[in-house]
Amino acid sequence: QAKHGSGDTTVVFSPDLEAQLSEQGKLERQLIEALDRRELKVAFQPVVDACSGDICGVEALARWNSQAGPISPEVFIPVAERAGLIGMLGSQILEEAIAQGSRWSELQIAVNVSPLQLRNRYFAGGLKATLDEFAFEPHRLTIELTEGVLISNTDQAKRSISELKALGIKVALDDFGSGFASIGSLRQFSFDRVKLDKSLVANIEHDAQAAEVLAATINLVNAIGIPVTVEGIENRYQAEFARQAGCHQLQGYWFSKPLSKEELAKRFLSP
Ligand code: C2E
Ligand code: MG
Ligand code: MG
Ligand code: MG
Repeated sequence: QAKHGSGDTTVVFSPDLEAQLSEQGKLERQLIEALDRRELKVAFQPVVDACSGDICGVEALARWNSQAGPISPEVFIPVAERAGLIGMLGSQILEEAIAQGSRWSELQIAVNVSPLQLRNRYFAGGLKATLDEFAFEPHRLTIELTEGVLISNTDQAKRSISELKALGIKVALDDFGSGFASIGSLRQFSFDRVKLDKSLVANIEHDAQAAEVLAATINLVNAIGIPVTVEGIENRYQAEFARQAGCHQLQGYWFSKPLSKEELAKRFLSP
């Protein structure tokens, strides 16, 4: 038996767990190297206007092509958070997204930010410096936060959100409908946009109740007066249903997968 971590949880090491931990350690070390060499890339997924189908923005998504092949952000973001690397990772992604965004003047650029990044009291100030460096207008940047930020709910995270908003940066709540975020919290944080989680869209073409829940959720967010994006749109039915339910922006494989900056420019932007 061995003690592990903080508090008084006792963890019994099994061969399995040991293997898992050394796997984590390996990932951590590889991630440190990748960050050192600035090997992480950014993919851009179009966000389209629900009525016209025209591209109106992009979401920047971190990509890591490790020596052992691509690793999903669902895997390496939590590793970065646990290892204290998320600040460095996050600022590399923000810088790359803003640098690229400054060349695409017609598009809104959305970047995912971990709640842990907001606990740094220099976060908003550092971001402002990056925006200035690239002459990027703050209102063209949207920071996407998951409800982790509502749960952790630290004073510093709240202050960071206020500072972002005071700078003119937009703040969106991501993955709404996948967890505990409440109607009250939408109002309390005065989010500029709410993105509905893809689980709300999955299967609506086969499940009438799921379709009703999606429509009701779109209505609910509209009723609070916040613009809604539905993500995870994979077919024409889902796109049309979300549009008719009152959603103004859509995102998903039906329109495009996340693309490299070159592909995005080639396929969606006029030369
Ligand atoms: P998210 O912010 O909710 O991003 C949407 C995810 O859904 C992306 O996965 C995207 O590729 C995927 N997606 C888009 N359209 C569809 C679709 O039609 N169907 C399905 N099934 N999936 C679709 P990805 O790129 O693997 O990212 C996963 C999550 O990792 C993101 O979820 C976000 O929470 C996190 N993440 C990604 N990049 C960053 C980053 O730079 N910083 C932080 N903190 N988190 C990031
Ligand atoms: Mg997102
Ligand atoms: Mg999401
Ligand atoms: Mg997500």
